[in-house]
Amino acid sequence: MLSLRLVFLTDNMMSTENAHSEETEHLNFIEEIIEEDLRTGRHTSVQTRFPPEPNGYLHIGHAKSICLNFGLAQKYGGKCNLRYDDTNPTKEEQEYVDSILADVRWLGFEPAKVLYASDYFQQLYEWAVVLVQKGLAYVDFSSPEEIAVQKGSPTVPGTPNRYRDTSPEENLAQFEKMKNGEYPDGHCVLRAKIDLASPNMHLRDPYLYRIKHAHHHRTGDTWCIYPMYDWAHGQSDSIEQITHSVCTLEFIPHRALYDWCIEKLEIFPSKQYEFARLNLNYTVMSKRKLLQLVNEGYVNGWDDPRMPTLSAMRRRGYTPESIREFAKRVGVAKRENIIDVGLLEFFVREDLNRRALRRFAVLKPLKVVITNYPEGQEEWLETENNPEDPNAGTRSLAFSRELFIEQDDFMENPPPKYFRLYPGGMVRLKSAYIIECTGVEKDTAGNITEIHCRYVPESRSGQDTSGLKVKGVIHWLSAPHAKTAEVRLYDRLFQVEDPASEEDFKKAINPHSLEVLEKAMIEPMLLETNPGEHFQFTRLGYFCTDPDSAYGKPVFNRTVTLKDAWAKEIKKQE
Ligand code: ATP
Ligand code: MG
Repeated sequence: MLSLRLVFLTDNMMSTENAHSEETEHLNFIEEIIEEDLRTGRHTSVQTRFPPEPNGYLHIGHAKSICLNFGLAQKYGGKCNLRYDDTNPTKEEQEYVDSILADVRWLGFEPAKVLYASDYFQQLYEWAVVLVQKGLAYVDFSSPEEIAVQKGSPTVPGTPNRYRDTSPEENLAQFEKMKNGEYPDGHCVLRAKIDLASPNMHLRDPYLYRIKHAHHHRTGDTWCIYPMYDWAHGQSDSIEQITHSVCTLEFIPHRALYDWCIEKLEIFPSKQYEFARLNLNYTVMSKRKLLQLVNEGYVNGWDDPRMPTLSAMRRRGYTPESIREFAKRVGVAKRENIIDVGLLEFFVREDLNRRALRRFAVLKPLKVVITNYPEGQEEWLETENNPEDPNAGTRSLAFSRELFIEQDDFMENPPPKYFRLYPGGMVRLKSAYIIECTGVEKDTAGNITEIHCRYVPESRSGQDTSGLKVKGVIHWLSAPHAKTAEVRLYDRLFQVEDPASEEDFKKAINPHSLEVLEKAMIEPMLLETNPGEHFQFTRLGYFCTDPDSAYGKPVFNRTVTLKDAWAKEIKKQE
């Protein structure tokens, strides 16, 4: 069943490369490399790392990388570090550092070590000195514009400037001055002396250090020169003896630089392997763009349930299990692809279907009076807590003369084949009775204010002797027993498949991405809920209790609807 549905979903995906190969334990290409390395004795153990820059919250793309790096270490009995690549003092904050560790743990992984590239600043500096002494790095006082021009273009080789031939002694003295704060920001840079004619632009004497008189979240004011990401990253891997340094495809052209540094410094040879980053349709994943959404108030913070961040997905009701399963199923690709966000929704439905308790809620209530049910009478009807889980037991629902049903479950003038309630029509109230609509009450403006029904006393669920066959089953609540709750319904944040390719991605925001229902009705039991609990509201979808809930006033986020309404919507438009 599962694989069939998956194939259906993957039909819509732009890449189906790895999505249906999992039933047979298929190695991904990185696992193949690792198994070969272990077999040949190139490595005797596996050491990986997840290296975020603490300049934003983690998103679902990072989750893919976390599951891969930690997953490889787990599978091969190795270790995986969390290393903050905190080389840019101006964009990093403790808030991000804390949220990243919390998210990694929430996903279900414990780092072997929590490390910081900034802990290696002294070592990195000393290695830069080694390069300078070897005549492999020089201090360049040209302006950034001059350097850009001198670098040439992919088809035109670069031209050396006069600083390239400065003696190691002179460079050493200048680098020392840079470090001692004798120059203002941007006055000069330290560059590696590699190859100005290389077809790989990253080898045309890349920057290693720039001057920034900035306070760093961990090293404070100790340094006024900061290593470039490319100088810090490879050496940090080497210091940690990372055997398989896994990163995304855009780092392919950087690999030659990392290898050059390792070779010249004669240090532990970490080796880099690149896989395709996770892209989802209807989603932006760049931290810079996500930061704009937060700062410009398009969403209510990094954990707004419409965001693709892990903190937002957690709040919305995604489970770590569903995200791990998703990451596994999309596989590890070598080519760029875009995954249908419906696949992610599929996995959270699968997971919550197994574990979420069923509850009745009526989002947009319509009052029903059962005219042949005695006033003041109530009875309690048994219903299942989770048909997927025999241990979940049952609960009792109050039934009485006045009920609520969904406005959507009634139509005064229904189209053919409408199986819910309409004047003269019959429907079963789930776990209760069959009712027949006998009349409609309206206000002076013509709006329906309540409907009148008769119930069939001998049709009670489980002991139905009425002989009636009805096609529709709807959910309901007893009006005097029901409680009020706020329910937040989310839709995709973007209206277009690839918002990042729009001229202004913010113009593609879906104006209906959030609908707040302040007067939804719920079973009284739902008043007892705590933030983070998952429920299936019968016939409506999966919901999760929001931290905004107050005592007696719960707030629920819709995680996902029961069925993929979006796919149908698209078909309708075509
Ligand atoms: P952004 O481009 O949004 O700023 P980033 O790649 O710079 O993100 P990092 O903090 O450097 O963010 O990412 C940490 C790790 O997560 C890196 O190894 C990176 O390759 C990986 N990663 C980032 N985005 C994705 C993605 N969409 N899919 C898979 N891995 C990703
Ligand atoms: Mg990065």
